[in-house]
Amino acid sequence: MDPADCEIIRGEAGSQDVLFKVVLIGAASVGKSCIMRRAGKDEFKENYDVTVGSDTCTLNVKAHGKLIGLQIWDTAGMEQFRSMVKVFFNGSHAVLLVYDITRKDSFEVLDMWLSMVKDTAPPDVKVILIGNKKDETELRQVGVDLGQQYVDKNGLYDFLETSAKTGEGILEVFKKLAKDLSTEHDKASTSSGHQLKSGKKAGGKKGCC
Ligand code: GDP
Ligand code: MG
Repeated sequence: MDPADCEIIRGEAGSQDVLFKVVLIGAASVGKSCIMRRAGKDEFKENYDVTVGSDTCTLNVKAHGKLIGLQIWDTAGMEQFRSMVKVFFNGSHAVLLVYDITRKDSFEVLDMWLSMVKDTAPPDVKVILIGNKKDETELRQVGVDLGQQYVDKNGLYDFLETSAKTGEGILEVFKKLAKDLSTEHDKASTSSGHQLKSGKKAGGKKGCC
């Protein structure tokens, strides 16, 4: 599916046809908050406050003649908040599992995060692996091939390297996700003939961040 033929609508309130929950997880400082802000507000700052607990933002994508809302949940990656992350998986449709391509240690803890997803998230949740900070080429510690191997080995849904700093890859992730989730939702609604438990109809959602 080509993510290019859909459009991001920022700041549109309360009119989504369907709403999906997307959760950002991964080690501290890999760029989760920056990814959310780049997606939601198209901005990047070097220093945001450290996320405490969680933060949310709704991004709207227009595709297939519909307004698809992605409610993005940014979680804290620090040890003391890990137990809270489990709560955020409740009702999630996709998980963005983020590491930093300049930090091998953030790649090495992916198994821990993935096992938490498997134990806690809905079984059909889509897990997308994101290697962030692609702009820092000279500091790279994790090769693209390693990321791809991890995705293949663990049967993850997709893999992309991004830069919240330059914006590279960020909107592509969310556009493709919105289209894929919406297509699946439509197919399942048609075959079952009733409203799905996943992808609820949106009502009165706020704008972004
Ligand atoms: P979080 O703890 O995962 O939410 O990480 P933050 O979003 O707070 O980012 C941690 C640090 O990484 C901050 O200093 C950001 O400016 C920096 N950062 C985030 N994304 C990028 C990126 O794509 N490229 C570069 N060079 N720095 C980034
Ligand atoms: Mg954060």
